Amino acid sequence: MKRLFLIITIHNMLVMELFSQSSFIGSRFDFTPGIEYDQSVQSPKDYLGYELGSEYTLYADVLSYLRAISSQSNRVSIYSYGKTHEGRPLEYLVITGKKNLSKLEDLRQNNLRLADPRGISATNASKIIKENPGIYWLSYNVHGNEASSTEAVMQVAYRLAAANDLETKNILDNSVVILFPCLNPDGRDRYVYWYKSAQSNILNTDQYDYEHDEPWPGGRTNHYWFDLNRDWVWMVHPESKGRIEVYQKWLPQIHVDYHEMGFNRNYFTMPGTTPRNLMLPDSYEALSDTFGLANIAAFDKHKVMYYTREGFDFFYPGYGSSYPSVMGSIGMLVEQGGHSRGGRAVKTDDGYILTLRQRVFDHYETSFATLSAAVRNRKNLNRYFYESFQQKTNKGKSSVYILPNNSKNYLYDVINMLRAHGVEVKRSSSEFMVNKAYSYDSGEPKRKVFSKGDFLIFTDQPRHLFINTVLQREMSIEDSIMYDMSTWSAPLAYNLDAFWSESRLSIKTEKVTKNLRYKQGIKDVNDAYAYVIDWNQRYAPKALSYLWNKGYKVRSARKEFNNGKRSFSRGTLVVLMGRNLDKKTIVKRDMKEIAQKAGVQIEAFKTGRMKEGIDFGSSNMVPLKPVKIALMVDKPLNSYTAGQLWYLLDKETELGISKLRMERLLNIDLNTYDVLLFPGSRTALDTSIVKKLKGWVSNGGTLVATEGSAGFFTEKNGIKNVKLVKSDIKELNKTPPSAYTRYEDRSDSLGLKRIPGTAFYGMIDNSNPLAFGLPNRLYTLKQSISALEPDPMLQTVGYYHKDPLKLKVAGYASMENRKLLSGKTFAAVKPMGKGKIIYLVDNTQYRMFWVGPSRMVQNAVMLLPSM
Ligand SMILES: [Zn+2]
Repeated sequence: MKRLFLIITIHNMLVMELFSQSSFIGSRFDFTPGIEYDQSVQSPKDYLGYELGSEYTLYADVLSYLRAISSQSNRVSIYSYGKTHEGRPLEYLVITGKKNLSKLEDLRQNNLRLADPRGISATNASKIIKENPGIYWLSYNVHGNEASSTEAVMQVAYRLAAANDLETKNILDNSVVILFPCLNPDGRDRYVYWYKSAQSNILNTDQYDYEHDEPWPGGRTNHYWFDLNRDWVWMVHPESKGRIEVYQKWLPQIHVDYHEMGFNRNYFTMPGTTPRNLMLPDSYEALSDTFGLANIAAFDKHKVMYYTREGFDFFYPGYGSSYPSVMGSIGMLVEQGGHSRGGRAVKTDDGYILTLRQRVFDHYETSFATLSAAVRNRKNLNRYFYESFQQKTNKGKSSVYILPNNSKNYLYDVINMLRAHGVEVKRSSSEFMVNKAYSYDSGEPKRKVFSKGDFLIFTDQPRHLFINTVLQREMSIEDSIMYDMSTWSAPLAYNLDAFWSESRLSIKTEKVTKNLRYKQGIKDVNDAYAYVIDWNQRYAPKALSYLWNKGYKVRSARKEFNNGKRSFSRGTLVVLMGRNLDKKTIVKRDMKEIAQKAGVQIEAFKTGRMKEGIDFGSSNMVPLKPVKIALMVDKPLNSYTAGQLWYLLDKETELGISKLRMERLLNIDLNTYDVLLFPGSRTALDTSIVKKLKGWVSNGGTLVATEGSAGFFTEKNGIKNVKLVKSDIKELNKTPPSAYTRYEDRSDSLGLKRIPGTAFYGMIDNSNPLAFGLPNRLYTLKQSISALEPDPMLQTVGYYHKDPLKLKVAGYASMENRKLLSGKTFAAVKPMGKGKIIYLVDNTQYRMFWVGPSRMVQNAVMLLPSM
């Protein structure tokens, strides 16, 4: 999973192996021989008609098998937790022994009692810790093309449902096992259907064969090409939302996330590497090691190879291994070699034939080794769980986080997210003052008066570990070589005003008891002159999609105006009835519907004369033409950033877009499109394509170049006044600091030069249409050392703070890189002929949670073509 630079040895011999089914499965990887099973429960082989590991199983067939055994065995129940984007049912199993079944709800409630130490006496807690079975949760196949684990779960479920051996009975008596058979059914089926379509009759183990070479975008991600193993906290997708709801209902003591990685690698089991979340309780390390050692004991017996400690950190809290760890659980990761290229069998570089059967077997073995180890440590785990919700394990300094209720765009998204994770959010019942309120903007304390209704998240509550991990401005970190981003602080990601305080506040508050909704509805009048939608609103772009879809002619205010009651921001949408005469009889109904469906406030105006600013007939009230947008996809573009743009426009904004394969670009008539959107890429565009695109822009097209693609449209390709920051400094960043750096230190020094996902302070010119609806500063997520040189002939819309000491808000960036980037441009507009090129050097909607800057994309495609 980490990017590896492999030296590929070319074999001049075609590696083709012929196996009969029996030799391919072999006896080495039999699932625990000698166990007696209840004959009324079907085995996977009986039900599917083939040995597990000889074929991949379609998701529908996996579910159908699991449903079958849930009706055949009273130990097993199956539940729904939603549907995927593509409509596949999401289901999970709860399995336990007879003595627990009759009082399952009581056991669940007892477990939740431990998770709120405020409401339970020490004596009662000790009794529950001693008596309650453990809740043990195994999650399979979050990455769709790491497909062996969903095969394995069928054997795991079968044994728990039907086996009568001592080990199984001990697990059933002492625990409630929760199995999530497939966290990402859309991605898995994308892989499995493709693989089946590519597989040959004669089993082919040649790693370069077509059946071992999955096409773009691959099955790892979900429908919108998002990595669901980064979404546990943010819950952008239905797969995560449904799962977290179940998670909060059960709160397990252990959680294991089953993965795969390149087929040349050996099994990874706990513990992982640094950095770790330093806020975790002290005994976390030792307990997680218990499970690694249990898995290893099983592998030693079967002579399976494995490794520990050399990879995989658990710092970022959105993984299936780290989220549970901030919820009182021992969250764990296992990784099997195999992955998409593993197929049914593949020859490794050292000549070993790695079969799907072995991959299934390995995950089956660790599933049981882990469950048995959990049962052996049941009381320890229950106690750890209980203590991790107590204040004695709270290592945070903040006593409260304060989010002012100033109608910032994403505020309610954050409040609702926190509540979904069991966080108690309060609102102040009156104005209050804090002597030392630290601001997220500067990191400095100041005396500040807060308003009635501002939101407070106190840390003296059970979810303190989650709260501190997700809300803290800056996490402590051991070192800077990390697997993922170095900051995810929610107030920064959602660009909120936020504060924290270390002193205890005693103020009157009310608890937030239901999810918050942004203000929506219509203030209508009879015989309106115009309908107005303030562009500052969270869902204003969606309302524009709806208006266009219904055929309304819409204008957008290039300047602010005030109707005597309040001012309306730049970009505000105005529907003039004098230009929509055909809508006269239906406008009231339409506006009501749009306000409700999009989630915006719409105001009807009786006149077009404003008290201040522009009138509605002004030429600064720009007619917006409905746009035809194409998002470029496929090789060599980055499927993640393409997916984020697709999601933002298609799902979030409900704006119809075309997705064009890059290879079509040269041969189609671009004049049918108003906007072309380029996701990130590292591979340079062909000069003939750049030439064609320049011609199209000069003719009136709007080209939006994001991340790595921004670098294709610079002076190098004849676009004047657009230069990337100097490349010699970039080269310096790529080389180790000294010619005498030791071999063993070289990869580390490269890591320190990276900017691994860091919050930078961005200054915004929100008088430019590209930034309409945004405040004049935002936190931009820096993941590279790319930026543009500011230039008088280039409209700089966003630039990094000019002071290198104030530039980095949270995360890691070397001082050398901060000096390089301070004052440089990250968002810009370059008019060219009748059209324009828009540069967004930083990701504007990373994983759809770092969404503070995302309005710039909506502006770029909806407003800019007309402005
Ligand atoms: Zn994975």
